[in-house]
Amino acid sequence: MTKIVEHPKKLVVVEGYDITVVGGGIAGVAAAVAASRHGKKVLLIEKMFGLGGLATLGNVWHFLPLCDGLGTKIIGGVCEDMLLLADEQIIANKDLGFKKKSDLWGKDVYSINDQTKYDNCYNPSVYQIQLEEFLKSENVDMLYDTRFCDVIVTKGKLSHIVIENKDGRQAVASKAFIDCSGDADVCFAAKEKTSSLDSNVLCGWHYLWIDGKLKAQKYSKHFDYMMTKEGSAAPFFAGDNAKDVTEMVLQSRQFFKENIAEICDASSEKVIELFEIPSIPCFRATRRLDSDYVLSMDDCGKWFDDTVAMTGDWRRRGSVYAIPLRCLQSTKYDNLFTAGRCISARDGAWDITRSIPTCGLTGHAVGVAAAMISEQGNIDIKALQVTLKADGQIIDKSLLSIEN
Ligand SMILES: Cc1cc2nc3c(=O)[nH]c(=O)nc-3n(C[C@H](O)[C@H](O)[C@H](O)COP(=O)(O)OP(=O)(O)OC[C@H]3O[C@@H](n4cnc5c(N)ncnc54)[C@H](O)[C@@H]3O)c2cc1C
Repeated sequence: MTKIVEHPKKLVVVEGYDITVVGGGIAGVAAAVAASRHGKKVLLIEKMFGLGGLATLGNVWHFLPLCDGLGTKIIGGVCEDMLLLADEQIIANKDLGFKKKSDLWGKDVYSINDQTKYDNCYNPSVYQIQLEEFLKSENVDMLYDTRFCDVIVTKGKLSHIVIENKDGRQAVASKAFIDCSGDADVCFAAKEKTSSLDSNVLCGWHYLWIDGKLKAQKYSKHFDYMMTKEGSAAPFFAGDNAKDVTEMVLQSRQFFKENIAEICDASSEKVIELFEIPSIPCFRATRRLDSDYVLSMDDCGKWFDDTVAMTGDWRRRGSVYAIPLRCLQSTKYDNLFTAGRCISARDGAWDITRSIPTCGLTGHAVGVAAAMISEQGNIDIKALQVTLKADGQIIDKSLLSIEN
């Protein structure tokens, strides 16, 4: 491979922020709001032109339950606020075929086999706007069309990130950084150990216009809950390199056309048109942090002294996992955290932690951890747990022992 040296150039430094969050998906929004609620000046950068990431731009419209599948609430805090935001608009959007089940914590309506579970099916376009208003009301500054490019390390500490947007290439100085890129972009640039997954299947939730009515289509090739190729449907994609991302996007377009052709064949009378496609590629899992501890399904019911979040398993009633801070913090830089679908979790546990509620949950946890480190330079884990609980997060060892 031929290489060329880019001319060194001085970058304008964006100053005045305690914490910078990369990525405005569910995890990024939750992290930014949590840090701001703790009095920190927060900047969130997002390369696209809307908040919510996969949960809006990816046309995913289904907020999974905040419970353990048996009706016990496991997730609260900022994530709960974000679910309630989505909840507000359901009634108004029922004409789109979205429905609301009455039990917020999923009791009696949660089962993977018969596909009935608590489902808050929001309108992703409305939710994007709600998330923007939410960030604004929580005093978070935001820049769209702004891509994270690199990190700058000064005297062994992560001191800046490099961004690019219409103003050119700049550096943002902060006391702490949160990688909510979904692809562990910041961790990768910081030369953290990361792992990639090459078993993503073709998928893409989209909208069809059928006989004058809008219909939301959940469309995906079969995938394995352990995230392996076995039992999943080829072709497979990794999503951690430009060629692969492009190929996945192009093939998903063909996939939508096939979907329409199938429906047309089944009902020749109907007028069917593709109405809206996702504006970001629908990769379930691409690259993640590989920290000192990698959460796995063997950790179901296991307590960690540095637990900062707890989650149910959207696929299985009664399973509860504690998530330790180790899975969310860089091993190289104390002031670098990650949240959402790129935390240190593997196989089936990756599939659990990538769900919308768990992304909001880990976002909240690292938002507060980053606030703490930006204030006092270290993390007192007991104090962090107390603060998270006061924020409405649930950190309770006794919930791990509930019978399946
Ligand atoms: C087909 C499909 C169906 C799903 N169904 C469900 C479901 O029914 N229920 C459920 O709960 N979950 C579901 N999920 C999972 C869930 O939607 C996602 O895992 C979750 O929303 C991820 O949130 P996140 O914030 O971690 O990451 P993302 O949503 O990926 O957000 C990352 C954000 O960072 C931005 N970004 C990335 N790189 C950069 C960069 N270098 N610079 C600046 N910005 C950057 C992106 O544009 C994006 O906005 C589904 C996922 C898929 C793919």
